[in-house]
Amino acid sequence: MRRGWWWLVALVAVLGAGCSPSAERGSEGPLRVVATTTMLTDLVRQVGGEDVAVEGILKPGGDPHLYQPTPGDARLLASADVIVMNGLHLEGWMEALVRNTGRDARLIVAAEGVEPLKDPQRSGWPDPHVWHDAGRWSQVSEHVADELAAARPEAAARIQTRRDAWVKELASLDQEVREALAPIPAEQRVLVTSHDAFHYYGKAYGLEVVAIQGISTESEAGARDLARVVDLVRARRIPAVFVESSVNPKLIEQLSRETGAKIGGTLYSDALGATPPEDTYTGMLRANTRAIATGLQPQGGATP
Ligand SMILES: [Zn+2]
Repeated sequence: MRRGWWWLVALVAVLGAGCSPSAERGSEGPLRVVATTTMLTDLVRQVGGEDVAVEGILKPGGDPHLYQPTPGDARLLASADVIVMNGLHLEGWMEALVRNTGRDARLIVAAEGVEPLKDPQRSGWPDPHVWHDAGRWSQVSEHVADELAAARPEAAARIQTRRDAWVKELASLDQEVREALAPIPAEQRVLVTSHDAFHYYGKAYGLEVVAIQGISTESEAGARDLARVVDLVRARRIPAVFVESSVNPKLIEQLSRETGAKIGGTLYSDALGATPPEDTYTGMLRANTRAIATGLQPQGGATP
């Protein structure tokens, strides 16, 4: 049973009561921001610049659905001026801690800035993977930037200037992704991955998305799930399937062996990469797009 985080919530209550954080928080120095995911940490850096000091709870390769917070995370959250989380149930085990921490901290739920897609397998649940569509990420960015500006009015003009530049960069990235994917023929526009993280990508950029596992990596795929995808890859003659940086690759490797489809590369699904340029949002989306565009070429894409 995973009950480990309850004592962390209690620890945060003690920390909060003991150190009177409001007395220490002022407008001196950068705004102390703690973000849950690596994508949000990057976003806060982009729009916050030198007006923020941001730390992320998740590291590259970390899985937000399954991540279990540590005492260090609880202390970090308790000392924050602002906490930024994705929302839409992405932060499985972290959410209770985040929501119970730092009564004086401002909580920004980033995905409140967009209209979510539905989880196709769980009725009434949203799909949290909003970052894979640069257009939606732009809306998320505006929401987060406006909330940061409200938290630090002295810096609002600078944050708005950075926000506007970032929104422009995302618009041009969105166009670049469309152009890179344009040569893939209609019948091969199928993206097969291990967990169901790419519906926003598929909807924005015109690909059908098929995954062996569900929206959350918490759900375990069974033999029937795998057999269904094996049949589909064979029937549609899909040339490549993709592993993910934050998910165990064994199901996709098995799918590749059973169907003869090659592994088209590693996609960054729920976390940015560890090294440049994939350690930024723009680098991550470009790397994913390059892998997909190359893998789904008619001849299987000889050169990247
Ligand atoms: Zn996910």
